[in-house]
Amino acid sequence: MLINDRKLVFELPQAGGRRAFIPEGDRLSSDLKSWYGQDKLRDSLDLPNLAELQVIRHYTNLSNKNYGVENGPYPLGSCTMKYNPKINEDVVAMPGFAHVHPMQPDATVQGTLKALYHLEELLCDLTGMDGFTLQPAAGAHGEYAGVMLIKSYHQARHDEARKYILVPDSAHGTNPATAAMAGYKIREVKSLPNGEVDVEDLKSKCDETVAGMMLTNPNTLGLFETQVKEITQAVHDCGGLMYYDGANLNPIMMQVRPGDMGFDCVHLNVHKTLSTPHGGGGPGAGPVGCKDFLKPYLPKPVLAKEGDKYFWDYDRPESFGRVRSFNGATAVLLRALSYLMANGYEGLKDSAEAAVANANYLYGKLKDLYATSTDQPVMHEFVLSGDIQAKQGCNTMDMAKRMIDYGIHPPTVYFPLIVHEAMMFEPTDTETVEGMQKMVHAMQEIAKEVENNPDLIHAAPHHTPVRRPDEVKAAKDLVVKFEG
Ligand SMILES: *Cc1c(COP(=O)(O)O)cnc(C)c1O
Repeated sequence: MLINDRKLVFELPQAGGRRAFIPEGDRLSSDLKSWYGQDKLRDSLDLPNLAELQVIRHYTNLSNKNYGVENGPYPLGSCTMKYNPKINEDVVAMPGFAHVHPMQPDATVQGTLKALYHLEELLCDLTGMDGFTLQPAAGAHGEYAGVMLIKSYHQARHDEARKYILVPDSAHGTNPATAAMAGYKIREVKSLPNGEVDVEDLKSKCDETVAGMMLTNPNTLGLFETQVKEITQAVHDCGGLMYYDGANLNPIMMQVRPGDMGFDCVHLNVHKTLSTPHGGGGPGAGPVGCKDFLKPYLPKPVLAKEGDKYFWDYDRPESFGRVRSFNGATAVLLRALSYLMANGYEGLKDSAEAAVANANYLYGKLKDLYATSTDQPVMHEFVLSGDIQAKQGCNTMDMAKRMIDYGIHPPTVYFPLIVHEAMMFEPTDTETVEGMQKMVHAMQEIAKEVENNPDLIHAAPHHTPVRRPDEVKAAKDLVVKFEG
């Protein structure tokens, strides 16, 4: 058992006389001391009086309660929890990147601007777009910026009748939420029994009130939309634009590009496809790309180049405005650049193929134990249904909790909404053979336990500090501050 289990740093026994590994004394720099006075500085901070070892134990124990891809498999479908290579950290820690300030004059940060400009070029190549903004802070924020590009385009043409955004019924919840935030109404498009967009239903919903459609491909069931050309054509024919939700770009990198499929703008989740940290609500990035005709509306400032000088261009009269302070999460974006450059185009192509191979391996091993919605080969992820097991008394939530006991992070559950008792697995390109076998073993054992020992599953997880929190309260009513 962990020492200091569940105690806050403020609740630990105070160290008294033996508090410090480094003895007290003239350790504060003389500048700081003469400015504040040593005691004044200490007194003004309400710090607990602890020995260095206590602090190290505290944080090490806290980190041991966490679970990440560096602990074991993390097949959280749609989230692409791939390994984040350490070279990314080396790159952003370089003093030339780490020690600059966003308010420095452009002339003094030419290296950083050049790196970001290069990132934009690589992202254009990867997606088949003509321009990018690096400002948005996450995928959902990128969606908002992308839909605002679509809105700006229609407004500039005085095309006021377009009030609807088309969204497939399999879409990620952020898509309809984004469209609503941007002031649109949602028109839902049905899926066929095989999980692809129903093109006939789509065509019946395309008219002069449609501003555009948001689509991810492969879709949230992990299936490649084989009719994507017909889909983008139908929307363009009625005057709408196509938005590509880039959350599922990982399995098609360097294989096929959204721009070539007929999409007009895209966002990328760099924390999914390009191996930057997911961050638990911390700094993120969701760059947005578009075709030439949408570039005038991009958020300003836009990163520009004249001769060999880079600068932030504010002279953008048609821009719909800024979406983030300063220039975006530069340290996150540089990690994405590091990943792109370390892999090269060949490496990215291999990653996409590995993501698909891993998902199909896992799918092949599990599809006879759990209900499925398709017989087709999948792309980077697949959706199983817990229907068979639910009828036997253990639902998907129960099984997800039991997976924790087997040392794997549960898949995404109850999404997409069109599949009952959904479990959505995405092993990603970086999962190891051992990790894949561990998941197969766990899912095989759980299927047996449902039949032979359902109470074991109902009471899971058995070894975590907290067992079954109220899921909604835990997510929506977080208490992260010390209330002593
Ligand atoms: C993750 C995801 C999003 C939202 O991205 P965030 O970066 O989490 O805001 C949108 N669409 C799909 C399909 C996703 O998987």
